[in-house]
Amino acid sequence: MTRQYITTAIDYPNAAPHMGHVLEKVLADVCARWFRLRGDQVRFQIGTDEHGIKIQDTAKKEGITPKELVDRNVPLFKDLYERLNISADVFIRTSDQEQHWPTVIELWKKLQAAGALEKRTYTGLYCSGCERFITAKELIDGKCPIHQKAPEKVEEENWFFLLKREADWLKKLLKSTYKIVPDSRANETLSLLDQGLEDVSFSRPKSSLSWGVPVPGDENQTMYVWCDALTNYISGLGIFTKKEDRLWWDDAEVTHVIGKDIARFHALIWPAMLKNAGVRTPDRLLIHGFLTSEGEKMSKSLGNVVVPQDVIDKYGVDALRFYLSHEISVGNDGDFSWKRFAEVYDAKLRNQLGNMLNRVLVMLKKEDAELAIPVSKEDEKSIAQAWKTFSDALDSFEVHAALQSVTTAIDCMNANFNTAEPWKLKGAERIKILSHFAEALRHAALTLLAFIPETAQKISLQLNVPYAKEMLEKDFVITEELKTWGGCKGWKTVGEPKILFPLVE
Ligand SMILES: [Zn+2]
Repeated sequence: MTRQYITTAIDYPNAAPHMGHVLEKVLADVCARWFRLRGDQVRFQIGTDEHGIKIQDTAKKEGITPKELVDRNVPLFKDLYERLNISADVFIRTSDQEQHWPTVIELWKKLQAAGALEKRTYTGLYCSGCERFITAKELIDGKCPIHQKAPEKVEEENWFFLLKREADWLKKLLKSTYKIVPDSRANETLSLLDQGLEDVSFSRPKSSLSWGVPVPGDENQTMYVWCDALTNYISGLGIFTKKEDRLWWDDAEVTHVIGKDIARFHALIWPAMLKNAGVRTPDRLLIHGFLTSEGEKMSKSLGNVVVPQDVIDKYGVDALRFYLSHEISVGNDGDFSWKRFAEVYDAKLRNQLGNMLNRVLVMLKKEDAELAIPVSKEDEKSIAQAWKTFSDALDSFEVHAALQSVTTAIDCMNANFNTAEPWKLKGAERIKILSHFAEALRHAALTLLAFIPETAQKISLQLNVPYAKEMLEKDFVITEELKTWGGCKGWKTVGEPKILFPLVE
C-alpha cells in the first residue's frame, strides 16, 4: 500500500480568499480523494502563511495587532474550504508557536551547522508589494512589473542561504527523483537553472520585519518568508521535534500542489534546504496556472474579481468544483466566465447528467420491479476500458482529461438512451434496458466521486446502491468488484428520483 502525503501552498491571509486559492484547493482535493479511492493511505495538509511585512502593515492600518488580523482572517479560509468539501486532514498555521516554530528553528540550526547560511551586508532593490528584493533586470521602466511601483534601495544585514552552490545537484535532482508535473512546467523550471542561481536572503533585521520567527542565536534578525513558510510541509509532521512523524515524509510519496508563481521557490530553494538539513527531498511538484476573469486578469481596478462565495451561493459547491476541474487543464491558465459557467452547468450537469438520471429512475420506478442488469462481454470490455482511460488520466494528474472522459461517457449514454427508445419497449425488455442505464449511471457516480463528492453520493442514493451511505467516508475504496459491469452485489431496486441540479436563472 502506498502512503501519499499531499500539500497545497499555504495561503496569505491579509485579505479574504479568492478564486485562485479555490482552484488550487480543488485540484489538490481531487488528487487526495482519488488517492484514497484507489486505496492509498493519505495525509492532506493545507494552511496559512501568516508572517511578513504585508500582514504587519495591514494590521497597522487597521489599528490591530498582526495576531488579531490573522486570527480574524484565517477562519475565512477555513470556512470556505470546509464549505467546498476540501478533505484536508491537517490545517497548519505558521503563527503556531507550538506546532510550527520548533521545526523551523531546528531547521535553521541545521542549515547553519551545514555551513549553508552566511551573514552579509546587502544592498538591493526592495519591492514592499512583492515583499522581496528584486533585481534591476526584473524592473520595467524602473518599476516592479507586478506592483507598478519603484522599489526602495535598501542596505541591511541579512542571513543568506547559499543556493548558488547547489546548481549542479539541483539539475540532477530535477531530472531524476523530483518530478515536475505537467511537463511544460518542468521545462520552464529547468530553464530557470540555466539562467543561473543567486543566494537567497533568509532573514531581515527585526527593525524592518518584526512579525515572524526570530533567528536562533541572532535575535535582531527575523526569518524571512521562505525559511518560515516552506517549512510548513514538515512542521505539520513535527519533524526535528520529539513528536515527529517521519513515516509521512520518509516513507510516503510527497506531492506539493502549487501555483506557477512560486514554482522556483519550491523547485530550487526547498529541496536545497532539505538536502542541507539532511532530510530527503519531495517526489513531485504539481503546478497549476492562473485564473483570468472573462478573459482578463482578475483585478479590483477592472472590477472583474469573482468571489467564490457568490458562485457557490448561485450554483452550489459541486458546480464550482466541476467547472474548475472540467474547464481548466492542469498546468495551464484558465478563464472564469459567468456565461461559460452557465453553459457548462446547463449542458453537462443539469441536462446530460441530471436529466439522464431522472429519466431512468422515473421509468424504473413505474415498473416497480427488481433490477435486471444484462451482462455481456461487450459491456464488460467497454466499462473496463473506460475505467482504464479514467484512472490513467488521474494517476498522471490530468484531472481535466479524467473528468472529460466521464462527461463524454454521459453524453454517449444520453444518445444511446434516445436510440434505444426504452419507452417503446415492454415488460422484461424495458426493465433490462433501463437496468443497463442504471448500471452505467452507477459507474458514472463512482467516477465523479473525487470531483463532485456530494453529487456522486446523491446519485448513488437515488440509485439505491448498497454502498451509497459510506462513499464519502475517507476509507471508502473503489474496489475492482465495484468497477466491474454488474459488480455491485445486493443491489435490487432503485430509490426515489429527485432533481440533482435545479434551473438557475
Ligand atoms: Zn512588486
